[in-house]
Amino acid sequence: MPRPLIAGNWKMNGLKGAVAEFGRMMEGYDRKMRARVDLLICPPATLLATLPVVALGSRIAIGAQDCHAKASGAHTGDISAEMIADTGATFVIVGHSERRADHGETDAVVRAKAEAARRAGLIAIVCVGETEAERRAGVALDVVRAQLAGSIPDGATGADLVVAYEPVWAIGTGLIPTMADIAEMHATMRAELLARFGAEGAGIRLLYGGSVKPDNAGEILAVLDVDGALVGGASLQAEAFLDIARTYS
Ligand code: PEP
Repeated sequence: MPRPLIAGNWKMNGLKGAVAEFGRMMEGYDRKMRARVDLLICPPATLLATLPVVALGSRIAIGAQDCHAKASGAHTGDISAEMIADTGATFVIVGHSERRADHGETDAVVRAKAEAARRAGLIAIVCVGETEAERRAGVALDVVRAQLAGSIPDGATGADLVVAYEPVWAIGTGLIPTMADIAEMHATMRAELLARFGAEGAGIRLLYGGSVKPDNAGEILAVLDVDGALVGGASLQAEAFLDIARTYS
């Protein structure tokens, strides 16, 4: 079984003062928790140069929320995977549904970004998930299968890839799928990874994301093939984030 990961996505939240909240996370990530679960915070790009330095010695990993597919060049406003690695960060989220929707990112774009992450030595967290209409139409499994096939680079392993299943309708809404639906989706994703990558597919962590809170983390994280969570809103407060991680201790 892969080692669990609780990842926080701060999205476009967090000024310099948020470093203090991160400090409280570091204090709370005690030996007992460290033995059982990995923690990751993905702050906005403006804090990317700061948090990896603050985090030194804490064993909380730092990641970015997006990267450009190219290593450098005339791409105003973008940052490359190499620049992210240069800060000391070790992960990057790619293909979050907000980027797919707001920036028109296709599976091919997401795949190119995941390849860039590997080139730079980062672990890519590739996000997939169906919309509410797709869930209602009964095509959620097909949609996610297609996103996995199109977004994940060849030759992926647990050392360079994490997959996050995030139903679009569950993000920031307080709604979550039934545990049976999460189990069905995660079993489907695991089967796809095993079929494509053989035994390596067993080591790729599968996170669930979408309205994970301290009061529902227990049941969600107990579902088979859920190897952790990608947490948005509840990752902005140290206590809520740590409470979710404490599910494993
Ligand atoms: C997310 O945006 O990745 C997310 C899961 O958000 P929230 O936890 O706020 O639903």
